[in-house]
Amino acid sequence: MFDFDFHFLNTSNKPTSYFDKQGSIEEEGIYFDGELLAFSEIQEVIRYQNRLSFIIKAGEKTAVDEFLLPHFNGFMIRVKQQEAFDIKSTIDRRYTELQVEERKKELSKKDELHNFRTTQCPTCKSHLDLSYLKPTKYIFCKYCDSIFNKYGNYTDLSDYKICPVCSYYNRLQVTPKIELYFYGKNDKAFSFEKVYQCDSCTERELRPRFWKNVPFVVGALTDFVAKNRIETDIDSSYTELTKANLLGYWGRIEEAKPLYESMFLYVKDQPGVLYDFGKAYLDAALLLLEDAEFTGDQQALLYIRESVRWLSRCLQMCSNYQPAITLFQDNEELEYEEE
Ligand SMILES: [Zn+2]
Ligand SMILES: [Zn+2]
Repeated sequence: MFDFDFHFLNTSNKPTSYFDKQGSIEEEGIYFDGELLAFSEIQEVIRYQNRLSFIIKAGEKTAVDEFLLPHFNGFMIRVKQQEAFDIKSTIDRRYTELQVEERKKELSKKDELHNFRTTQCPTCKSHLDLSYLKPTKYIFCKYCDSIFNKYGNYTDLSDYKICPVCSYYNRLQVTPKIELYFYGKNDKAFSFEKVYQCDSCTERELRPRFWKNVPFVVGALTDFVAKNRIETDIDSSYTELTKANLLGYWGRIEEAKPLYESMFLYVKDQPGVLYDFGKAYLDAALLLLEDAEFTGDQQALLYIRESVRWLSRCLQMCSNYQPAITLFQDNEELEYEEE
């Protein structure tokens, strides 16, 4: 049905064999090097660029047990970058369908069928379990991190997601990063890597590096390219987002506030931007509270109240927006406000 080449990875993300192995997605499940992992045995599949982690349901005995990583009920593979999205979403579509059916049976047994609700993501076609959640204008797909509306005809811009580095919602790009400078014994660097992060993170890193790199042409040239990339092709409603999030990350909420507010003139109900505003208030409050010499708890409480207000509004627009739910779960100061 769908064949692909892959490598198993060890815990340091290194391939365990020199040659490719063959995989294929079939009606009953996925074959890895001839061994079947049934869709019903999958708990979750997580993707980071071209790496896929398969997490197996607790207690399942499977034919792929020999591939499991030590102390981990799952295994990791690396596939071709250009096939990674399709492989994951083909698999997601099947196992999430089974999980949703399972959920329906479970609720029907408990006489709770009226609370069962499901939908399918227009981007990756995964089946989402929305049981017990309030119907809202937008829906979040945790399998491909996209936001769509209840009619399935609006999706957010495809490269706007939660940044793995700073956890703000913004445009993500793969950016080359070269550090090459020499300013004496204790201040030298040579490194080359590609990073997957948001425009604010690139901007934040460029600031100190740009000036150091300038006299050393190779590094300066890539920095120039990177700087150019974060400043081009931005959707016009989001032009202030990179700067606003950067200020938010630094706890400078008073400067960030007018930038978020000006974006709300165009995108006032967009869950990602509402989440960013709430997160910026939270970051400002946490920085104040961390500062032991600071005695302005009153100010921090004010910021927390604002944070709750914007994060609650985000969930009123999109009741399953996982990044906002996670902030509520991880910070006990925050309490969700029903409108
Ligand atoms: Zn999706
Ligand atoms: Zn970032």
